[in-house]
Amino acid sequence: MSYKAVCIPGDGIGPEITEATLRVLRAAGAPLEFEEHPAGVAALEKGLPVLPDSTLEAISRHKLALKGPCTTPVGGGFTSVNVGLRKRLNLFAAVRPVRSLKGVKTRFEDVDLIVIRENTEGLYSGLEHEVVAGVVASLKVATEAACGRIAHWAFRFATHRKRRKITVFHKANILKLGDGMSLRNARRVHREDYPNIDLEELIIDAGCMRLVQDPTRFDILLMENLYGDVVSDLCAGLVGGLGVTPGANYGEDGAAVFEAVHGSAPDIAGQGLANPLALLMSAEMMLHYLADQHGDASSERCAERIRAAYEGALENGEKTRDLGGELSTEQFAQAVMARL
Ligand code: ATP
Repeated sequence: MSYKAVCIPGDGIGPEITEATLRVLRAAGAPLEFEEHPAGVAALEKGLPVLPDSTLEAISRHKLALKGPCTTPVGGGFTSVNVGLRKRLNLFAAVRPVRSLKGVKTRFEDVDLIVIRENTEGLYSGLEHEVVAGVVASLKVATEAACGRIAHWAFRFATHRKRRKITVFHKANILKLGDGMSLRNARRVHREDYPNIDLEELIIDAGCMRLVQDPTRFDILLMENLYGDVVSDLCAGLVGGLGVTPGANYGEDGAAVFEAVHGSAPDIAGQGLANPLALLMSAEMMLHYLADQHGDASSERCAERIRAAYEGALENGEKTRDLGGELSTEQFAQAVMARL
């Protein structure tokens, strides 16, 4: 039994970390069959739009994708590949687990939190206009429907994962209507349907301060789009950086796209410097997701084998340079495969 999934290698460091991840998945016997499709600059180079319909159709068909980071060329009127993908497939919930790893020395040892980010609206509406010369308005959109949807999703997720608390980061003291709407929805869903899970509310500036003082007090963080973008990177920094922070985007119609939090890092592309772990951990999330969806114990076992292998490698000091080690992208993949 194997599952069909789309693979988007992406741009910059994307192809090298994707190759490393696929090698580990194959070596671990992951029940996955990948169909490769382009997006970003790789698509443009094939004479296709940055986000080709064929790529979107393939994801809609298989409802499963592993995506490397994609570059959206600056200028030329291209809309962001990542934002476009999330909107076109209605991938409204981004989930980014942030967990301390043995062998990766950071200020805190037992961080285990999950950032849930609303993926479809806020300042990512793309609605900007020049009101008069020299004055630009960028619209931050909030809708009752999307605020309610992400709140329900987050509480359901928390219940399923046996998590105890959701902390909402907001700025409703200033954005009384917009952020007020997300906060009101979180309160309503909590009160009506999930009173057993704690709900905490923090103004985002104070929340960030508390995060860097003691991230271990947090469990699930829920926030709107731009706050989620920024806080995800902040949280990545608490556990070793962008090289160790995976992510998943879930949609309403069952589509799920797994991708690292980081971007295409063109500054280090093609030099063997990229850490493939964030994408490998995203693939591990994909295997857990398949196990959940299909009650498939073999996917679960495969995910556990991969985790044990990379944790063993890290604990033994086998790390890429971003984590203070010496290994190249490929050597790290080899180190993980040797422990499977
Ligand atoms: P985006 O706008 O998509 O967030 P960005 O270039 O601002 O892209 P990233 O590409 O996410 O940001 O990464 C910022 C820096 O972090 C990179 O330039 C790179 O040096 C480092 N980095 C990111 N991902 C990795 C990785 N997997 N391994 C090693 N270093 C990484």
